[in-house]
Amino acid sequence: MVSTVLIDGKKQADELCLQMKEKIKNFSRPPCLAVILVGDNPASLIYIKHKRKYAERLGVSVKFYQLSPVMTEDSLCSFIKELNENPLIDGILVQLPLPFPFDSYKIIDTIDPHKDVDGLSSTNLGYLFVGQPRIIPCTPLACMALLKTVVSDFSGLNAVVIGRSRLVGKPLGQLLLDAGCTLIQAHSQTKNLSEHCKNADIVVSATGHTGLIKKDFIKAGAVVIDVGISRTPEGKIVGDACADELMGIAGAITPVPGGVGPMTVSMIFQNLISICEKNLYNR
Ligand code: NAD
Repeated sequence: MVSTVLIDGKKQADELCLQMKEKIKNFSRPPCLAVILVGDNPASLIYIKHKRKYAERLGVSVKFYQLSPVMTEDSLCSFIKELNENPLIDGILVQLPLPFPFDSYKIIDTIDPHKDVDGLSSTNLGYLFVGQPRIIPCTPLACMALLKTVVSDFSGLNAVVIGRSRLVGKPLGQLLLDAGCTLIQAHSQTKNLSEHCKNADIVVSATGHTGLIKKDFIKAGAVVIDVGISRTPEGKIVGDACADELMGIAGAITPVPGGVGPMTVSMIFQNLISICEKNLYNR
């Protein structure tokens, strides 16, 4: 029986907060992040609350703009362009999902790539996929940071990423490839998912499909990163993995909540600080 390590994302995020706080002390002014929410999606409001709380602990200023969902796409783009031009705003984050009928990626691509803290613009994703990463999307970065707490050498490891979204699956697959893994990028049409997973040293599940990763998917000692977030009918937050079943089989696993979520928040601010240090784009 394997002794399964629980990877504590909250603890990692707290430690990172202290380290970043030290860095910020040397800045001429606190970094400033603009957060845009269109509408009043309750889940988005909770995510923004977590970000603002982390920013407050860190000493980062957040300008929160809650905009009307009846505004036009053009006026939202004009608003973002004004923030692009504002030298006192270092980073811009548009909280996703945007309400219908906004075209999320047209809006994201309006953000100046130098201020795109989420790293989701075509420019920043393009840099990642050609092997010249600038600003990397936060959830994939969080997954890599958590993996690095238990994996010292990725070269030649078999990794399965379940999910192929622009937000998580695709960029994470690229990061694992770049780190030296042999990658299988699985998705809803993948056949024999359990067979692929059983052969993997690393399984990252990012589907939102509760109970997808069962004990017969995981080989002894494999690392499981659970990105999924779902709510049970009783209101409990759960991930994609049947975590209880995996204890004693997986080498390490991230809990939900308390795993990838808190680290994703800290990666936003890591990106913001890198933007302020101007070490991503030389301008
Ligand atoms: P998405 O809906 O865009 O993509 C889901 C992906 O999962 C798709 O590529 C789909 O093909 C795949 N998929 C769905 N069901 C599957 C199945 N049964 N078998 C195999 N593949 C399947 O979602 P997303 O934006 O990539 O987010 C994925 C999950 O991660 C969601 O639960 C989301 O809430 C969560 N998430 C968590 C964080 C965090 O910080 N913890 C951040 C972003 C997303």
